[in-house]
Amino acid sequence: MEELGYYSDQARSDVRVDTAIAAAEYEQRAVNSHHAATLVAIHSVLDEARYCPEVFVGNHASRFSREDVEFAERAAIADLAVRLALSENTVRSHESQAVTMIGRTPITWQKFRWGDVSPANARIVAEVAASLPEDSSMFAEFDTVVADRACQLAPARFRAFARKLREQIVADTAAERHESEASLRRVIFEPDLDGMAWISAYLPAEVATAAMTLVDAEALRLWAVPGETRTMPQLRADVFGDMITGAGGGSVAVRVGVLIPMLTLLGQSEAPASLEGYGPIDAETARKLAGDATSIYRILTDPVTGAILDIDQPTKHIPEGLRRMRQLIDQTCTFPGCGKRAMNCDLDHTIDRQFGGQTTLMNLSHLCRKHHRDKHMTKWMLTQDDTGRIEWTSPTGYVTAPDPPPF
Ligand SMILES: [Zn+2]
Repeated sequence: MEELGYYSDQARSDVRVDTAIAAAEYEQRAVNSHHAATLVAIHSVLDEARYCPEVFVGNHASRFSREDVEFAERAAIADLAVRLALSENTVRSHESQAVTMIGRTPITWQKFRWGDVSPANARIVAEVAASLPEDSSMFAEFDTVVADRACQLAPARFRAFARKLREQIVADTAAERHESEASLRRVIFEPDLDGMAWISAYLPAEVATAAMTLVDAEALRLWAVPGETRTMPQLRADVFGDMITGAGGGSVAVRVGVLIPMLTLLGQSEAPASLEGYGPIDAETARKLAGDATSIYRILTDPVTGAILDIDQPTKHIPEGLRRMRQLIDQTCTFPGCGKRAMNCDLDHTIDRQFGGQTTLMNLSHLCRKHHRDKHMTKWMLTQDDTGRIEWTSPTGYVTAPDPPPF
């Protein structure tokens, strides 16, 4: 009897495996198809914002200008971002993915809608299709070949295939491609762990090469100095840092803000401090920075919630001091999800002075140029209570707070 039970159970295990595999396939297709549907829904909201801007910017004109439409679109993107807990960039790229696929790769798009293409592969299709020159015959050629492979290959293999296909289709346009890429040059700052951070720059090859040659030459010169113990990579990093900050030459005055717990400052605790625009740094480094500080403000915070309880203002009615304090409190633009550093933002009166708003800490907040304009031009609304706490209400009524501060 026991043996029979064993065999019959084994027989059923085959069925269970088959069932589970079928379930995985079914659910995966559902996820694929739902992802495509999400992109469509996002596209619909933004289309609506463009055709009926009054939902997002208020009914202040009988004819909407092009600028109104842009503000409505931006307000709608921000609205979706807070509701879906996505970054504005993600919302934007979801929409452009839908637009690109519908317009340039309709066959692959349809397969994505049916659930045959994974979100990862669909993203690759959109990326590569977006990089094709404006030429409908190229779009068609790409779409026809890529559609089937998008259903079969795993993302890494598929990406390689799609890129190779693109290179075959786009021949002899290297110069134009370089020109359009060159317009995307930029510097990227990324905080890393253990008090370190990355600065990288996307540059035309000749500029990057010239810069590295300069760094190399100076590093090599220092390396040859008797007694120098640093390695070449360390020397390159130090030379690069010195050049950017003008250290040694001392051409630019740079100011960084540090938030230090009082006990850490007094050396009675090793609780980490927070470097403005970066995040937590170790107590020792913070104390060293504070030693060089030219001004110190005392900010008393609630140890549990991090809410600001009191601020010791060293000098009254000096906007510079206020500006500095608010900068330390906000750290970044106060719009939810925006990481623009406060020092590069506008300091905005929450209630405008012309409506009786005062120049106090509790009526000021940092807004990057983009979100500052959004606050004035769209139905996004910022309110601040008498502790200075900020709340945002989206044009469609979603209420949210700024991202929590790091302290
Ligand atoms: Zn912002």
